[in-house]
This record gives sequence, C-alpha cells and structure tokens, in this order.
Amino acid sequence: MKKITLLIILLVTGFMTIYAGPVSKHGSLKVKGKQLVDQTGQSVVLRGVSFGWSNWWPQYYNPDAVYCLTKDWQCSVLRAAMGVEPDSAYISDPQPQIDLVTTVVEAAVKNDIYVIIDWHSHGIRTDEAVKFFQRMATKYGQYPNVIYEIFNEPVQTWDEVKNYSETVIRAIRAIDKDNIILVGNPHWDQDIHIVADNPITGFENIMYTLHFYAATHKKWLIERGDYALRNNIPIFVSECASMEASGDGALDLESWNMWLRWMEANQISWVCWSVSPKGESCSMMQWEADPRGPWRDKDLKEWGIITRDIIRKMNKEQDIKPEPSK
Ligand code: MG
Repeated sequence: MKKITLLIILLVTGFMTIYAGPVSKHGSLKVKGKQLVDQTGQSVVLRGVSFGWSNWWPQYYNPDAVYCLTKDWQCSVLRAAMGVEPDSAYISDPQPQIDLVTTVVEAAVKNDIYVIIDWHSHGIRTDEAVKFFQRMATKYGQYPNVIYEIFNEPVQTWDEVKNYSETVIRAIRAIDKDNIILVGNPHWDQDIHIVADNPITGFENIMYTLHFYAATHKKWLIERGDYALRNNIPIFVSECASMEASGDGALDLESWNMWLRWMEANQISWVCWSVSPKGESCSMMQWEADPRGPWRDKDLKEWGIITRDIIRKMNKEQDIKPEPSK
C-alpha cells in the first residue's frame, strides 16, 4: 500500500515538473547586462500578446481568456494595457480599470505566466502614475509574475520622459525592490538610440521598450536597436505587429520575419498587439468571437492566427531546447 502511495506521489510530482509553467520554471526575473535572465542567471525570452485598451475592450479582460492564451496559445507573458487618458479610462474613473487589470494579473498568477501592468498613456501624468504604481507594487511586488510598464508610448522629449520615469521608478522601488520595470522613450518607443546615449542610472532591473509595426518600421529602427544593444541597453519589445503603425493595412510578413529573426538572435522578449475585435488588421479577434474563448481559426483574423501559431511554435521549442546563457 505504501509503495503504491509513493508511486502516485512520484507520478504526480513528475507530472507537475514536466508541466511547470514559465514562472515556476524561471522565477524572479532580473537584468544582467543587456539580457533578461531568470532566477538561475540563464537568459530568458518571453513571448506573448497584449490585450487591447482596457477601456475600449474590457470584455477580453477575463480569466477564461487568460487561460486560453496560456494553455492554447502557449503565451509566457500577457500585457494588460490599461487605458489612462481617453474618456471612461483610468483618469476619469479609476476603479473599473483597476478591476480589469487586477482580473488579468490574478489570472496570470494562477496560470503561472508573467504579466505586464501597462500604463497605456501617451501623455505625462506623473502624480496619477505614481499613485497607481504604488498601489500595484504594494499589491503585487511579492509576485515574480509581475512586470511594470510605466509609460506606453511617450510623445515628449527624452529629458521629460526620463524625469517622469525616474520619479515613478523611485516610487515603485520604495515598495518593490526587484521586479522588472519597462521604460518608454520618445516617438512611441522608437528613440531607443537617444536612450542609449543617456540612460537612466542608479536602478536595477530596468529595461527599455521598443515598439514596431513592421510595414512602417524597417531596417532603420532595427539599426537603432542594434546601436542600443552595442551600448548595453536592455530592450523589451512590449508591443509589435506586422502592419502599418496606424494598426491597419496589409500585413508585411517579410518585414515581420526580419524583426522576428532580429529579436530571437538577440534574445529579446516580444509581445504582439492586440487581443481585441476592433475593425483593423492588428486586432486579432473577429467581432463575433466569444471573449472568453476558446477560439477556433474562424474566430481569429489573419494576424491572430499568425501570432498564435508562431508563439505556440517558439515557446514550445524553447521548452524543449533552452538557449544557453550568454
Ligand atoms: Mg518584488
């Protein structure tokens, strides 16, 4: 009888080890040089998707969607894009937006994946951002799952963005000493070369975002990324897609594949935009799709199918053959 019990325990433990999610496997993330690494110092590449603006597409901010994106799509990271400035977003009515972010973060924790809390703003709102991230850091600073993105796509100068970022980082670090913080830069996260010449100093586990839309952003932006990498700037692509920067138009898969090769060659994590049913080519879901999933091919637009398939393939490959540490 005892032998049988032992056998069952061994089988269950073995099963749990084989099917451990990304956070059980990698634990607390850190930045080593320009590379995102896991708790053992091995480099790690996160691949996943971003929800659309929470104020416009709240129906997708639900635990079943998180479950499907984790188990079916194999995402290792999701991004909760909390709308800040539009009517009915965070500034005008904070609590519903906090509830949506909380729903996604808690479902991500339950599903053992990483989650980005994204302050989805184009304007500088320092006081409101400080208060929001103090609240998030207090609630989630102990969870290795959580990554803070303190400014979606700035349109100000780097001096202004840097000043804002230092204030928000200081507020987070007073509460949470270690979770990864993503910092934006001018021109919707395309001025990574300017960051490289004048980065933020004095804080650990800071990375900089680079956003691209492959039909608009081509080799010139990759060259800026290369320049930043040569200067030891840690890059996280927290938003990307294959059409024009407007979020619409034809997919440019040649350019998208060039970007994909570049990100993988440099061990850069990436998150695709977006899980929403909006009538534009960057929105992955058909209007008729059930926001709770599960989604069949007919529920997804072309970009949704491409994104799902590449994440499934690459995250699975990483599970089988982890990249060695650099
Ligand atoms: Mg922490």
